[in-house]
Amino acid sequence: MDTYDGKSVFDGIAIGKVSVRKKAGQHVKREKIEDINAEIARYKRAKRRAIEQISSLYEKTFRELGEANAAIFKAHQMVLEDNGYNDSVEDLICAQEINAEYAVASTADNFSRMFAAMDDDYIRERAADIRDVSERVLKILRGVAGEGAAAGEPSVIVADDLAPSEIMQFDKDMVLSFVTVRGSLSSHAAILAGTRGIPALVGTPLPLDDTVDGKLGIVDGTEGKIYVDPDKETLARMQKRQREEMERKELLQTLKGRESVTADGKKVMLYANIANIKDLAAVLQNGADGIGLFRSEFIYLEKEDYPTEEEQFQVYKKVAEAMAGRRAVIRTLDIGSDKQCPYFQMEHEENPALGCRAIRICLARPGVFKTQLRALFRASAYGKIAIMYPMITSVKEVRRIQEIADLVKAELAEQGIEFGEPEQGIMIETPAAAIISDELAKEVDFFSIGTNDLTQYTLAIDRQSMKLDEFYDPHHPAVLRLISMVVENAHKAGIWAGICGELGADQALTREFLAMGVDGLSVSPGNILPIRKIVLETNVEEYKAGRHNP
Ligand code: PEP
Ligand code: MG
Repeated sequence: MDTYDGKSVFDGIAIGKVSVRKKAGQHVKREKIEDINAEIARYKRAKRRAIEQISSLYEKTFRELGEANAAIFKAHQMVLEDNGYNDSVEDLICAQEINAEYAVASTADNFSRMFAAMDDDYIRERAADIRDVSERVLKILRGVAGEGAAAGEPSVIVADDLAPSEIMQFDKDMVLSFVTVRGSLSSHAAILAGTRGIPALVGTPLPLDDTVDGKLGIVDGTEGKIYVDPDKETLARMQKRQREEMERKELLQTLKGRESVTADGKKVMLYANIANIKDLAAVLQNGADGIGLFRSEFIYLEKEDYPTEEEQFQVYKKVAEAMAGRRAVIRTLDIGSDKQCPYFQMEHEENPALGCRAIRICLARPGVFKTQLRALFRASAYGKIAIMYPMITSVKEVRRIQEIADLVKAELAEQGIEFGEPEQGIMIETPAAAIISDELAKEVDFFSIGTNDLTQYTLAIDRQSMKLDEFYDPHHPAVLRLISMVVENAHKAGIWAGICGELGADQALTREFLAMGVDGLSVSPGNILPIRKIVLETNVEEYKAGRHNP
């Protein structure tokens, strides 16, 4: 048995087969081969297998999402049928007597670099196709595991690192847990893993090889450990804990449908954070009072081109209808920093977290912004949608947003298109916004405090850096004082203020937030019922009195 320590993103116990996800293109070794013909035959077999996989993906996507979405796989197939690509791989194997993996990786590098340097947009995009296809062939050549989860067995996914969009692509029912070697606790990847409500660890230094892959793994999200190939005793102990955990969760289910109200009668909104309409089921299963943060950027990140107004409208309408009268706060596009969308073709930035992200992109590209706003205003006719703008730093920005929103409504009215009148609020996630929250409160319908970024910018600590995790302290008095000040300023102006950053789920602070007068907490669906339990058990006035007279 091997034991590795990591940092816990979500608690609970997962037991199942480990599936190591490797990026096949990384660390491809150059090896001298003896039999050139056998190596070329090996390449051809892998290529045939890749074409089979691609054509079944084409069929599946065509059936489920239509021809336009399936077209990408036709492009992938064309790469593998292209003489230039195949000749390059085979020539390299022959001329340099090297392994097929190295020949494929070199060909992918050369071709994609050449295409990426072209002026023509269409050809530039082919560079990504070449990298994708080559990655697939490499995986087949190397027999890289990781097809396990895709092949139908729920697994513990282990990887060096996972991008936020990669996490979203996993089939929910096929993943028991995520464990990554790298990754900081407050990265979006970690947050999304937590949103799945399954045990997850980041910063876990385990080898990504056969000593782990395919072995039985136990992830202890509560203690922050993974046991690989556990001994009998450990397995029995963890199975017992898993049963107890399930019983605890079943007990919490009795709180479903209960109003989130404190023992002394203060009503609190317990909302869910989601990134995809697939998460709606978890929102309802966990009895959320609404949705407090729908990270709409994942609609963009999961696509290869700008999502249309109609595509977005269908998603937002579904959310509005599913919530059946309960509030659904949809945050407008928040890309940039660690969430990069290649088709936006953003310029390279030295400090992307301090760069062009979120509302700054929307204000710089009003066409993109208006498309999303049109979809949101239209969907508001179907339920209680609230629109939330991220990364605000000034009153000027809010007024500019309001002008654009008014323009969008006027255009919809003129075109005779139905739309609603959603609440419009802002995220308070920069120290600037917190400090001028008295002024901002006069401009909007609500505040939602994004503690992930508020901590990053207040403490000047990159939330992506795992090395800085020990300094990233959302309990820092500076962060807590800002939260308290924002809530106070919101109430003075008669608007509500909630928290939608990860700190909202920190059970050590729930009572403190209630004492500050926070109106709502938006957390990953799996955290709703444990927090409702604390809310129901808390007498806020007694807690406040005890706090002042310990
Ligand atoms: C936050 O910053 O706290 C937040 C909720 O937004 P995100 O984590 O998506 O940046
Ligand atoms: Mg944020």
